[in-house]
Amino acid sequence: MSKIYDVIVLGAGPAGLTAGLYAGRSRLSTLIIEKGQDGGQIAITNEIENYPGQILEGESGPSLIARMTAQAEKFGVERARDSIKSVELEGEVKKLTGTKGEYLAKTVILATGAFPRPIGCRNEGEYVGKGISFCATCDAAFFEELEVYVVGGGDAAVEEAMYLTKFARKVTIIHRRDELRAAKSIQEKAFANPKIDFLWNTVVEEVGGEEVLSKMVVKNTKTGELTTIEADEDDGLFGLFGFIGLLPNTKLFEGMIDMENGYVKTDDNMHTNIPGVYAAGDLRVKSLRQVVTAAADGAIAAMQAEHYIANLK
Ligand code: NAP
Repeated sequence: MSKIYDVIVLGAGPAGLTAGLYAGRSRLSTLIIEKGQDGGQIAITNEIENYPGQILEGESGPSLIARMTAQAEKFGVERARDSIKSVELEGEVKKLTGTKGEYLAKTVILATGAFPRPIGCRNEGEYVGKGISFCATCDAAFFEELEVYVVGGGDAAVEEAMYLTKFARKVTIIHRRDELRAAKSIQEKAFANPKIDFLWNTVVEEVGGEEVLSKMVVKNTKTGELTTIEADEDDGLFGLFGFIGLLPNTKLFEGMIDMENGYVKTDDNMHTNIPGVYAAGDLRVKSLRQVVTAAADGAIAAMQAEHYIANLK
């Protein structure tokens, strides 16, 4: 018979690691299950500059996450690397089944986060990893001295475009409107960067090229005019990075947990509609998806799990 944990946290991003830290520190037996690398979105973010109390200049996502992981483990949190395929969340003992085994717990904190929204152009799938990327930190070095295009106008697009200028010859931000959504302070830095150009009122319709990405058709959203952009002959390819928001990782809970547009609904205390099941971080219906709000959600969820378990006894 498998061990029954007090708390299982699903996902090791800022929300999950903070939930683990608070649960472990409350002396609850706690397991964090993660299928990939720790950190979620933050693991692929180059620079973090708005996490309160952050003292390191040029803090990267991975360095912040490494400290969060170590801190959770310091409080005795156990770890499992597994991909969960099904969950049974009703009843006093919750069961999560992965490719490596079954995991049981009295409470579950869902912290599976979100993933990048596809660009949505024709042939996109064929060129992911062959010119199209959703992670500047991972792939910027492949585009040393080449041209790169970034789709999006939010914080992520503009910040990652600036990071890409350290590698690429030129970075062009393609945005569907004529005004960025990104925070003003981030915009100012981008407008002052001589390597960044903008294609306003533009969306990518189609991508192509032999083996690697070397051409794309873009459309002017005002006039409908189509333009073909081709890679410089000497380059033979260009990069296309998509940063147009996120989609929640919640398919596993569909039909069990109350959701709105795919995001998990909770009350202010992170309770889902199922007793003993909480949600924390980007997968939740919320107004601000940041490391600080994910961490706060995780802390609240863990303390609610602690109250729930105390009342079971
Ligand atoms: P976001 O803020 O939702 O912005 C998405 C951008 O993509 C918007 O400019 C949007 O255009 C555009 N877009 C959406 N769907 C599109 C489509 N189908 N085709 C073309 N363009 C499309 O997403 P994000 O920048 O990924 O950020 C996600 C969250 O993380 C946000 O809460 C953000 O604040 C946070 N974040 C924060 C930081 C930071 O604080 N330093 C850094 C990165 C991310 P419109 O503007 O026209 O809607």
